[in-house]
Amino acid sequence: MGIRTGKQYLDGLRDDREVWCDGERVKDVTTDPRFAGGARTLAELYDLQHKPDLIDTMTYESPTTGDRVGMSFIQPRSAEDLAARRKMFKVWNDYTCGMFGRSPDFMNVMLSSYGAAHEAFDTGESKFGKNVAAYYELARENDIATTHALVSPQVDRSKTPEFQEKDIAARIVGDNDKGFIINGVRMLATLAAIADDIVVMPAPSYPLTDSEEAKDHAFGFVIPVSTPGLKLIARPSVIHQNAGSPMDYPLSNHFDDSDCMIMFNNVLVPWERVWIYRDIEAYNAAQSRTHTHTHTSHQFATKDLAKAQFMRDLAITVARSTNVDQFLHIQNMLGELIHVCEWVEACIRAAEQDCHPGPGGTVVPRREALQTVKFLFPPQFRRACEIIQTIGAGGLFMVPSFAMLDSDLAPEIEKYFQAANIDSRERIRLFRLACDAALTSFSGRQQLYERYFAGDPVRSQASYAASFDKAPSIARITNLLDKWEGELKG
Ligand SMILES: Cc1cc2nc3c(=O)[nH]c(=O)nc-3n(C[C@H](O)[C@H](O)[C@H](O)COP(=O)(O)OP(=O)(O)OC[C@H]3O[C@@H](n4cnc5c(N)ncnc54)[C@H](O)[C@@H]3O)c2cc1C
Repeated sequence: MGIRTGKQYLDGLRDDREVWCDGERVKDVTTDPRFAGGARTLAELYDLQHKPDLIDTMTYESPTTGDRVGMSFIQPRSAEDLAARRKMFKVWNDYTCGMFGRSPDFMNVMLSSYGAAHEAFDTGESKFGKNVAAYYELARENDIATTHALVSPQVDRSKTPEFQEKDIAARIVGDNDKGFIINGVRMLATLAAIADDIVVMPAPSYPLTDSEEAKDHAFGFVIPVSTPGLKLIARPSVIHQNAGSPMDYPLSNHFDDSDCMIMFNNVLVPWERVWIYRDIEAYNAAQSRTHTHTHTSHQFATKDLAKAQFMRDLAITVARSTNVDQFLHIQNMLGELIHVCEWVEACIRAAEQDCHPGPGGTVVPRREALQTVKFLFPPQFRRACEIIQTIGAGGLFMVPSFAMLDSDLAPEIEKYFQAANIDSRERIRLFRLACDAALTSFSGRQQLYERYFAGDPVRSQASYAASFDKAPSIARITNLLDKWEGELKG
């Protein structure tokens, strides 16, 4: 089959999925106003793959069927393959201004890295590598949109889930000849309401203890979102349902990819969909053995680049509209935004050029360069929001609804909301966009997303620093001081 169209994707969402939001069960996520905008955007991304001028960027020939399949599924074998993959990421993420964090390329990359390293799942008594490889091919050939739920819920973070008093975190409660049964919840999966399948795997910063109790929590699998017993509890939408015009919250309307808690009500996971089963070693090492996190960092660093460029361009446009770009401190802030774009891009290209051999004949981009973006970009995004707030100032909030341009007050609106360099219509739509990027609940969710979507930065950064080889640093400083002290002695 190969790449899907947007219509095929939307048709696939009309199943028996059980999504709950605002106290009610959602009938159809493709038409419900809280989810339809995100679903429509994702459908548009799928359609982009078919555009004749983009098809070579967005797709490659399947090694098994010869069909055109999504480029983000490629198992890269050279720096050139990584660059080709990045160009594909960039098209989708430019389209979404970097604000749709879970466009399917994110998970496609994860699946491709699991597939390349499928032998890592053949540990102990478990021989699930063939399931991992088979699902990767299935997803690639059918353009499946997946989400993932890696983290147990916030019940008591002072203990791992196996030692918590409250029985809330998802765990294995039984098995039979068809599969195993899971009960409880996983904390969060972005996109779940509008994804086809859900991948349930470990998170690197949340290892299990090597104990008998932990075995019930040591699992990995993938199942359809519509699996019986699977319930999604969605957070309230950030889309303003009573807005005067869709132009008032343009980012919210297009790019709310939604977040859900995942509840397993005695869900049967078929054996052929199992990747890890009661295997603590495989669970704790799943991410490092497969280089998954480094590969997904390649995708999200490119998303960060698209987002940084969007925030830069927005700030420049707002500053120009009222002539505040003539002031020195505003020019300095625009300079900051320009530089962020350059260093993110430099890190991505360095990671591609300095790639090294990985599992199954693939290459892995240089982790350190991508980790730099992972840790340094989130505060830069918050800073970009602050810069847009500083440049737009009171005007960010004090522009009326775009709908006022069609009201009886239209002549007054057209006169009084002009700026030096743009008319009222342009000013209102521009400042509403800037407000949505830097100030609304959509922006707040984006800031939280950047802070946490890739795990807890505190623990990740600390474990990264702990694994850094410090001996050369210490030797260098000691040698320098020895040399200068030696000079003193003559
Ligand atoms: C918008 C958004 C989207 C997300 N999407 C997904 C998704 O699609 N799939 C997915 O799997 N996850 C997703 N995540 C979840 C993400 O993986 C977690 O938020 C992240 O791992 C942090 O965990 P937590 O939120 O439970 O915070 P906690 O772990 O509860 O941490 C809260 C605070 O306590 C500190 N803390 C907690 N435990 C420790 C400890 N042992 N040592 C030191 N400090 C500690 C942390 O540093 C932090 O400051 C998303 C998160 C957000 C915010």
